[in-house]
This record gives sequence, structure tokens and C-alpha cells, in this order.
Amino acid sequence: MKITNIDYWKEDMKLTRPYAVTYVMHDSVQNIFVRIDGSNGLYGLGAGSPSKFVTGELIDENCKDRLSELEENIVGTDIEGFRKTIANLAQIYVDKPALLAALDMALHDLFCKTFGISMGKYLGIRLQPLPTSITIGLKNVQETIDEGLEYKDRDFKVIKLKIGASIEEDIERSIKLREAIGPEMLIRVDANQGYNVSTFQQYIQATKEANIEFYEQPMTPALTLDMLLLTDQQRTLCAADESLHKLGDALDLVALNRPFGIFNIKLMKCGGSSEAIRIADVAHARNIQLMWGCMDESVISISASLNTALACHATRYLDLDGSLDLASDVAKGGFKLAEGILYPLPDIPGLGVSLL
Ligand SMILES: [Mg+2]
Repeated sequence: MKITNIDYWKEDMKLTRPYAVTYVMHDSVQNIFVRIDGSNGLYGLGAGSPSKFVTGELIDENCKDRLSELEENIVGTDIEGFRKTIANLAQIYVDKPALLAALDMALHDLFCKTFGISMGKYLGIRLQPLPTSITIGLKNVQETIDEGLEYKDRDFKVIKLKIGASIEEDIERSIKLREAIGPEMLIRVDANQGYNVSTFQQYIQATKEANIEFYEQPMTPALTLDMLLLTDQQRTLCAADESLHKLGDALDLVALNRPFGIFNIKLMKCGGSSEAIRIADVAHARNIQLMWGCMDESVISISASLNTALACHATRYLDLDGSLDLASDVAKGGFKLAEGILYPLPDIPGLGVSLL
């Protein structure tokens, strides 16, 4: 079955809840979208969230220029050989992981639709559905508590608290949040590289009563060797985010003495499900647990992340809340959210999403 057409465009999507990450406010987000049509009348969808700071790529100013390049490489290829097409695209878009991720998922979507199976069935989902965390950004103590209580009311089971701007405030927010929401919800934290060995250990000691589940990226990638100064137990509870983009980073990390016990895989960092599964295999072989993260993303890419996550043995944690704060999206479906748990859609072909 031949691919007959491709569309590529970008959309500005407003956020219902503007947030700050290390002092920069975000109130809308631009995603790119891909639609690939087959001669059988079916289409596959992909979405990407390029970001200079996270994926290292700028969003295309002129989607038309990129489109002609995509047409050249994709239109006319056979969907049955989609893995070869993805491998070719991975050579071309080495430095454009979010674009590559969008193409990877659109090809998976069309391939799976063509054969009438969900992406989860194709990849081999082997895990039960898991809860997703929902993020509280860098806010003051009262706003942190208010948002935590709101998420408790909405039946979320896990909060991811952004910290790393001020050690004193981080400690206070963590303890007060725990006091407010009670003992049952999990709290994991993301320091976004804000600490060094000494401030990170200070934070761990001071927040024992807050019962923090684990710690994402306490220090910058430049301080990876300093991570080895932490205890084994502390490192086991640290997740690599900014330190882990692609397969090569995973190999570099496992060559060291386990600076991180958890890898945070994001399709936008690594270039899509194909590369994500390779990273997941390395983690599994070295007894490293996986979390799956995202940016502000359409349900299209959240579905691809969820289906890939649940197909990997080492997956323990989901942080796939990226579509929940979008005021508008171009597609619907992809998963069901109930009591904070994300359920894939195993009976709908492909990613289980359709254009609105
Ligand atoms: Mg992070």
C-alpha cells in the first residue's frame, strides 16, 4: 500500500494553566502536526513539540519548505516497509528529534490502521495501566497547596512538583504540600538541574517527612560525575531527564556506576517510539527503571508515548499529563483517563486518535 500524500503544519495551542519553569512563564505552546495518507483511504497522524531548550530544534518558520522535503522522502513509499522509511528519516533528521518523533508516530499510526490493530497490540503492551503524575510548576507555598488539593479532588494519585529555584522554598513547599494532601498521594519532584551535591542532599534530609517518591534531574548534565558522590540508595531514586536524550546518552550513563536508577524517556527528546524502545532495552538490561515524560503535547503524541511505555518491561512511572492542560487540540481520543490512571485503547486501530 503506497503513501500518496503528506500534510505538515503547526498550531498554536493555548494552555488552560500558564506555568513557570525556572522563571519563564508559558501560556501557549506550538506543536507541529503531520498527516500521512495512504492509497487505501486511511491516514496516520503524528505530532511533535520542538523546543530550542529541550529538543534543540526551532519550530519551522515555513512549513511549506519542509513539506516538499518530506514529500520527497515519504510519498510513494510502501507502508509495509515503514520501518525502513523511519530508518531513512532518522539519518536525515538527526538534529530534529521532535519532527522525527511526529513522522515516526504518523507512520506507525497508518501502518497499524492498515492492518486493523492498535499501536499497543503492534508493539506488544505487556503492562497493566499505570497512574500518571500531574505537574505543579514553580509556585509559592499557598498556590502549591491549592493546586495539590485540586488534583487530589480530581482523583489524581501522583503529583510531580517542580523545584530547584530556591532550596528553602523547595523544602517548605514539599513539606506543606504533603501536610495538605495527606499521606496517600505520591509526590515526586523535578529539580530541573537546580541543585549540586550539597544542596540536593540538604533537600533530601530536610524533606524526609514529605516522603518523596523519587527525584528527577537534581543537577546539570555537566555534574553527572558528581552524581556518583551520592549514596547508592540516593542514586537509585534519581531520574535522568536533561542527561538522557538518545540511545548514545543511555549507553554513556550505563557505562558509569549507575548515576541514575531511573531513565525519563520522552519521544520528543529521542525521536520517537523506535529509538525509545532501543533506550528501554538498554535500561531493562541494566536494571534501570523507566519513567515516560512529555512536554505540552497533543493527545496524538501522548497516545504514542503511552502505548510505547506500556510495551516496555522496565516501565514503572508515567508523567504523561501533557495534553491535560491544553485549551484546544487538533485531535481527540488516544487514551482514557480515570481516577488518575491512563488507559490505552487496545481495540481502536493505530493511535486511537481522530482529527477534530
Ligand atoms: Mg524533567
